[in-house]
Amino acid sequence: MAANLIMSILKGKCPRCRSGNLFENPNPYIFKDLFKMPEHCSKCGKLLMPQPRFFDGSMYINYAFSVAIVITVFTASNVLFEKPNVTYMILAAIGGAILFAPYSIRLTRTIWASIFWKYDPKAVEKFDTGKYEP
Ligand SMILES: [Zn+2]
Repeated sequence: MAANLIMSILKGKCPRCRSGNLFENPNPYIFKDLFKMPEHCSKCGKLLMPQPRFFDGSMYINYAFSVAIVITVFTASNVLFEKPNVTYMILAAIGGAILFAPYSIRLTRTIWASIFWKYDPKAVEKFDTGKYEP
């Protein structure tokens, strides 16, 4: 059974069938494989790079995520420590953004694809019977 929208995005699944992997290596922290995606979804046959630079728009979402991380770290520093050192706060915010970046890149690509590709609960069945649209 296919996962719900949130779980399929968190796990980097194909937005159309929510069962095939969007990325070749499921671990985003293997940097040589960070951007590697199969040409087609292995479960539903969806063409995963419909046009050149399709995923460039996901950078806008990624920017918003990075800003949210920086705001979270600054807020947490102010709440947890009485007089937080601004230098440490900046270093912690940058560190948090860098540590989260590989996962964020993949997460935002999956969100971006989910905006444009509609979920089809019968996509895998259609692919198995040869009645699919790439
Ligand atoms: Zn698929």
